[in-house]
Amino acid sequence: MNYNVDEKGYYGDFGGAFIPEMLYPNVENLRQNYLKIMREPSFIEEFNQLLKDYVGRPSPLYFAKRLSKKYNTKIYLKREDLNHTGAHKVNNTIGQILMAKRLGKKRIIAETGAGQHGVATATVCALMGMECIVYMGEIDIARQAPNVARMKMLGAEVRPALSGSRTLKDATNEAIRDWINNPVDTHYIIGSAIGPHPYPDMVTRFQSVISEEIKKQLKEKEGKENPNYVIACIGGGSNAAGTYYHFLHEEEVGIIAVEAAGKGVHSGESAATSALGKEGVIHGCKTLLMQTKDGQITEPYSISAGLDYPGVGPMHSHLYKTGRAEFYSATDDEAMQSGLELTKLEGIIPAIESSHALAIFKHKTFTPEDVVVLCLSGRGDKDLDNYIKYFNL
Ligand SMILES: *Cc1c(COP(=O)(O)O)cnc(C)c1O
Repeated sequence: MNYNVDEKGYYGDFGGAFIPEMLYPNVENLRQNYLKIMREPSFIEEFNQLLKDYVGRPSPLYFAKRLSKKYNTKIYLKREDLNHTGAHKVNNTIGQILMAKRLGKKRIIAETGAGQHGVATATVCALMGMECIVYMGEIDIARQAPNVARMKMLGAEVRPALSGSRTLKDATNEAIRDWINNPVDTHYIIGSAIGPHPYPDMVTRFQSVISEEIKKQLKEKEGKENPNYVIACIGGGSNAAGTYYHFLHEEEVGIIAVEAAGKGVHSGESAATSALGKEGVIHGCKTLLMQTKDGQITEPYSISAGLDYPGVGPMHSHLYKTGRAEFYSATDDEAMQSGLELTKLEGIIPAIESSHALAIFKHKTFTPEDVVVLCLSGRGDKDLDNYIKYFNL
């Protein structure tokens, strides 16, 4: 079984490029060039240099002693929370802005829901001195004021999406419209392992530095490259794709995905895409997504803004369908409790997204000999208000 993308841009039944004809030249240009550019020595050198000196990589692989004791297994945390800007997203935006420069683009557009991808994009645009326009639903702009302020301070223009539910999917529509109108000078930075081919594969490759480092670090600490399990939370699936990438074809490594169950998988307020999703097209690819009987996208819900997405990337749909990965979901309550637990046991306040991954220990029992690596995708500073309200701190 192959878990990587094939020649045609598919992961099994999922993926492809379902785009308006007017976007075809842009996406085709990227498809023809992305692997070539990623293999250029000057690209590799610049990417690695920035990951090291600007992002602060390699991120540590931390043995969480007290958490391990509590769950009677060996738990390592991959500390993406220690990256510049506080999460894994910057790995991808750095890769894509270097790609955009080599494609001769002058202007960057992006869409954002919670604002985290918008901030990561605005950050690298400031770094490279490039024009940056971030589309964001009007409702999200109101909900995520600190991130809007960050983007503005970084020099980005934040344009409100005023149509539909005025959230992420509407911002995505606006970004696509912009790209159609500016096909020559603009690159669209997608923030997760989603979108038309080659985006899911390109984003996954930029994030695969996570599993590349895990292998090296585990070799030093445990004398072997492969853990028994790798675990990550899934919104669109980029931190998960990066965490799994170098283990996809290592059969002894179990792959675990944790989605957001919101107020309960069947409560009508959830973002548990694999459990609730049906095959459909979203954001330019065929994948599992939450939809009504007549194919309208269902508004997702999670306490965690970064997991509040109605689909998963095509690679994850394939991992789900083939059974290569085990899928779990964690409710708001389970995630919040797990976030507080990590804070108390290890002195690390995780992003609420990452807290969903941590909730796996409430759902699955590991043996004392198991080596379990969990991607701590981000830090919780951005979520303090949520934690304070939830726990009445
Ligand atoms: C955005 C975000 C996620 C979800 O995005 P993926 O593409 O699924 O990784 C998870 N954790 C954090 C900290 C995020 O900011």
